[in-house]
Amino acid sequence: MNEIIEAQHEAIKEVMQVKEVVEHFERLQKKGRNWRCKCPLHNENTPSFVISPTRNIYTCFGGCGSGDAIKFLMHHLKIDYIQAMKWLGDFYHMPVDETTPRTYTRPTIAKRAPAAIPPVQYIPKDIFNKTLTGYADNNFVKFLLTLFEPRVIESLLEKYYIGTSRHYPGAVVFWQIDELFNIRYGKVMGYNPETGKRIKQPFEQINTICGAILKKCLQTQQEAPEWVVKYEAQDTKPQCLFGLHLISEDLNKPIAIVESEKTALVGSIFAPDFIWLATGAKGYEKYNRQGGINEVPELLKAKFRQLAGRKVILFPDLGAVEDWQELAKHLQDIAAVTVSDLLSTIAATYQLPAKSDLCDFLTSVPARRELIETYKDALRDQAPQTTAEGWVIWEYFRDRGLRDCDRIQAHKEIIESGYFNNQSIRSNAER
Ligand SMILES: [Zn+2]
Repeated sequence: MNEIIEAQHEAIKEVMQVKEVVEHFERLQKKGRNWRCKCPLHNENTPSFVISPTRNIYTCFGGCGSGDAIKFLMHHLKIDYIQAMKWLGDFYHMPVDETTPRTYTRPTIAKRAPAAIPPVQYIPKDIFNKTLTGYADNNFVKFLLTLFEPRVIESLLEKYYIGTSRHYPGAVVFWQIDELFNIRYGKVMGYNPETGKRIKQPFEQINTICGAILKKCLQTQQEAPEWVVKYEAQDTKPQCLFGLHLISEDLNKPIAIVESEKTALVGSIFAPDFIWLATGAKGYEKYNRQGGINEVPELLKAKFRQLAGRKVILFPDLGAVEDWQELAKHLQDIAAVTVSDLLSTIAATYQLPAKSDLCDFLTSVPARRELIETYKDALRDQAPQTTAEGWVIWEYFRDRGLRDCDRIQAHKEIIESGYFNNQSIRSNAER
């Protein structure tokens, strides 16, 4: 490591406070001199995670041990030392960057060195946390309930941090959370609870979380919060791919990318062998409007940069294959990107309406058995082995009018029934 970066790391270590860092993720309770919360590093019901501000360390009495802010970040975010230092650099406005040497040097360090680059304004955690509730009124969740068992939906809501907003009646919030758990963007949308389609009449129900807050401020004649003003003043909003926070979950899993959040969510249930992300339809249309993807590859590339070295499969909506192939070309130097033509291949056979997406197909097309027989091999080449199987399971349960998507139970029943008598699938399930 070069000397500049080493000096920057040292400077950050001087100012970093484990309490401040943990507080970014968890609500802390004061307990004597110390602070306490449920351990963010393991699952527990009673808080056994204690922070000592005087010693500047945390200790988990539930078995995770102790450490400083760096160790906490490495464990909590599943990142390495260098990434943890980058995170802290962002957090304390002391960027780690070898191209711009800082003035601070090892022996004399000013606490909280002023930021050389204006820090990115993210969305505060409490704003985000407040939306993680109200699911009984959430029309998007109601739609999911027509497809899946509540417990399947519950884990989906937790995994992707789906929120609820009153901005439109029963509106959903799709949060864009990055791999370091910064809340970068919030999209508020209205869905029809029966069809799962977005509401576009009499007006299109779509806004950002900041747009929603500003509108409320206007109606109640209140001043906009300072962070919203700062956020909105940014030329480029700090957007990222929807689901990006999940990419470190399993580094061997390929990444599936679709346009809409809904498709990513539904896809993650049917084919959990991928990590499902969404570009967000709006973002993509914007690139097209600005004169084709060729014109703004840098903006777009930035969104994909965290996927470096991963296997990525794009699943375009029907009619968008060429656009996405163009997009894939720009991404080749970042990751191994392939474009699936699954939907266009089957469109005629299954009479898919124009602009159908993978979710429409997964949730409405009949005769899936035949499809699976036909495309099983192709699917397996394109994806890990169990993808085709995931669809079979889904069909099996749908045939019986059940919503259940529990894969283990489904495996068992399918194998016992001899319904899908395929050696490779069976050995998969028994593994
Ligand atoms: Zn623990």
